[in-house]
Amino acid sequence: MGSLARSSASTEHSNSGNLSILTKVDKLRELIGTKVALPQLVVVGDQSSGKSSVLEGLTGFAFPRDAELCTRYATQITCRRENEESIDVSIIPYPDAAPIEQERVRKFHRTLKEMAPESLAQVFKEANEAMGIRTSAKSKSPELSTLPTFSEHILKIEKLGPNEQHFTVIDVPGIFRKKTEGVTTDADIELVRAMVKKYMKDTRTIILAIMPSNVDPATQEILNLAKEADASMQRTMAVLTKPDLAIERTTQQIAIDHVTGTRSDLDLGYYIVKNRGPDDGDMTLEQGKEAERRFFAQAPWSILKSTGRAGIDNLSKRVRDLLVDLIKREFPKLKAEVAKEVVWLRNRLDGMGAARNNEHTQRAYLNKISEAFQTIARDALNAYYTGNRIFDERHDLRLITRVVEANEKYSNDMFKCGHTRPFLSNLEGDTEDRDVAAEPEDLNISEFDSDNDDELEGLFDIPEITAPESRKEGIMEYIEKVYRASRGQELGTFGGALLSTMFKEQSKKWEPITLSYMKDVILAIHHFISEIVVEICPDTRVRDELWNGYLLEELQASYRKAMDHVRLLLDIEREGIPLTLNHYFSDNLQKSQSSRLVETMTKLGEERELASTDGEGNVLKQESGIFLSRAKLNNLSFNMANSDHVREYMHDVLKSYYKVSRKRFVDVVCQQAVNYFLLQGEHSPLKIFSTQMVLNLNEDQLEMIAAEDAPVKAQRERLGNDKKNFEKALKVLKGSA
Ligand code: GDP
Ligand code: MG
Repeated sequence: MGSLARSSASTEHSNSGNLSILTKVDKLRELIGTKVALPQLVVVGDQSSGKSSVLEGLTGFAFPRDAELCTRYATQITCRRENEESIDVSIIPYPDAAPIEQERVRKFHRTLKEMAPESLAQVFKEANEAMGIRTSAKSKSPELSTLPTFSEHILKIEKLGPNEQHFTVIDVPGIFRKKTEGVTTDADIELVRAMVKKYMKDTRTIILAIMPSNVDPATQEILNLAKEADASMQRTMAVLTKPDLAIERTTQQIAIDHVTGTRSDLDLGYYIVKNRGPDDGDMTLEQGKEAERRFFAQAPWSILKSTGRAGIDNLSKRVRDLLVDLIKREFPKLKAEVAKEVVWLRNRLDGMGAARNNEHTQRAYLNKISEAFQTIARDALNAYYTGNRIFDERHDLRLITRVVEANEKYSNDMFKCGHTRPFLSNLEGDTEDRDVAAEPEDLNISEFDSDNDDELEGLFDIPEITAPESRKEGIMEYIEKVYRASRGQELGTFGGALLSTMFKEQSKKWEPITLSYMKDVILAIHHFISEIVVEICPDTRVRDELWNGYLLEELQASYRKAMDHVRLLLDIEREGIPLTLNHYFSDNLQKSQSSRLVETMTKLGEERELASTDGEGNVLKQESGIFLSRAKLNNLSFNMANSDHVREYMHDVLKSYYKVSRKRFVDVVCQQAVNYFLLQGEHSPLKIFSTQMVLNLNEDQLEMIAAEDAPVKAQRERLGNDKKNFEKALKVLKGSA
């Protein structure tokens, strides 16, 4: 007695357990059904093999009887126990469809309280429209005929009621092999075959392969497809339909042999059902079942009674048990899978950072970016290249090194090529003079390869560099010309304005050399800034907005300021009155003058050996020297006053001043225009993208720059929703929900 009681109690328990496990799967399907393969049942087979009819028998849901409404998409039918009876029809979008289309089909939702066949037919029609497929083969409208015949969205039908048992089954379009002109194409044939294969593939799917009894199952393509998807044939069950149409004795026997298992190649075996035929339109489902019972009670089918494999009720019970077993078996794996997904989703969301939907979060987001920028910029200025990995890979971003190189080149260019005409060199020593005396070399103005050329257009405007005719004329001829053209009444001297004129001419090339140096440095800085911004701000929309809406303009202004300053420096140095307090000027001048004097005296005088002797006529010292007679000396002073001498003097003054001025100018350009205006100064381009700038942005500007755009927002939402659903699903799986 005791054991019986116990066993009945345990049956009771296991039934409610099954119910709860089925409820759980329904909940999971609701939450993550489109993302994770859940244990499910699919009905597959040829077109018209009786799939929808079997489905009707299993679920009690009757499809509208309309030949034209053959299955054009997968239909998921879920039965669920609810107090109120109703039918809910909606569409689960195909995950790979365009977002707009997904949005559109998701909007489709109909609820039916009473099951009038006409209203159901209407809902199906509307569902077809929502899916965007052709509804009628007869329709000749060209607009309609461009619509596809099949859809990869899923029609979801929920059948709720107080007597429903939890159950979900999917009806897939039937396989066909011949296209119908104006309705189906070869591509459709393949599409459906692929769809069927996809549904059979998952190991958590039980395949119900439907075949009519009037053909030999051995010839059925659907079984071959099932074998491909389920090699061990452990989750494939065959269902024979239309036994009433198998009238030949041999055909009947083949069907019977399959059901009894004498010919079965499937672990799960064959079942046989008889559905309502095309002429049984006015028969209810119940009446249909009654007719089926009577049918299987007759010979030769009555022989199958002992197998328990004939009739829709037997099939229904068996598939439900199968499903429960499968679910129980799959639960631990499912739990692990869902837990993993939760972790992945959390990481993805963390990686996206906080949502930027208000002023506060937007400012924080930009602050973080600007701080990163400032850090890299500081490292680049201090040549602290171990500070960031980017400097290892990108030597073009080692900014201060680039600038130092440009400085050197500039100083060298000015040194070698800055003067229009070579000065005369001193006869004595002064090695340093050689450069200025040299023929100016041709400049090669470096072409910095830049993709940002148009961003900085109009900023530089560098004049042509060499005026070749000035080469032919030597410096002394030039001075002669200037002197003659502007000679005043001064005797033995020249007016200060002449020095100005000559200096301007001699320093003509400073402008192009200096401006192209500035261009090199600015391009290097601009390249650095734009590359670093790309590096630290991967969100292209934010970057574009920041760059084009804000930074670029400020950068241009700051470059322009530096350029303006260098032009001012050029102006001051070249156009102003020659001025210097540097003693090198007079030192150099004196050196030149005295070496000239020595030269002239050497020319005038005679070389003599001079021996100094002591009282006894012994030679104490022997020296060589210049002997100048008094007459010659007079001649010399006369020479000093003539115009030749003035021109030489002009040359020497110009040369001394030029040298002092060039050195001063190069230093000042490097120090002020580059170092202050472009690098270290408070308003240098490198200081623009700072936390201070972010602080100064108003709410609208922040929104423009840092708000998330629709796709990012949508992605975050999607991930957020998925995460929520997967977390709930995990709770369901752990039994805590
Ligand atoms: P599906 O295209 O595979 O979904 O097939 P349906 O379920 O729509 O059935 C196709 C046709 O076969 C319909 O007219 C059904 O009434 C008919 N049919 C289905 N099963 C049986 C059956 O067991 N016996 C008879 N006589 N007709 C059936
Ligand atoms: Mg069908």
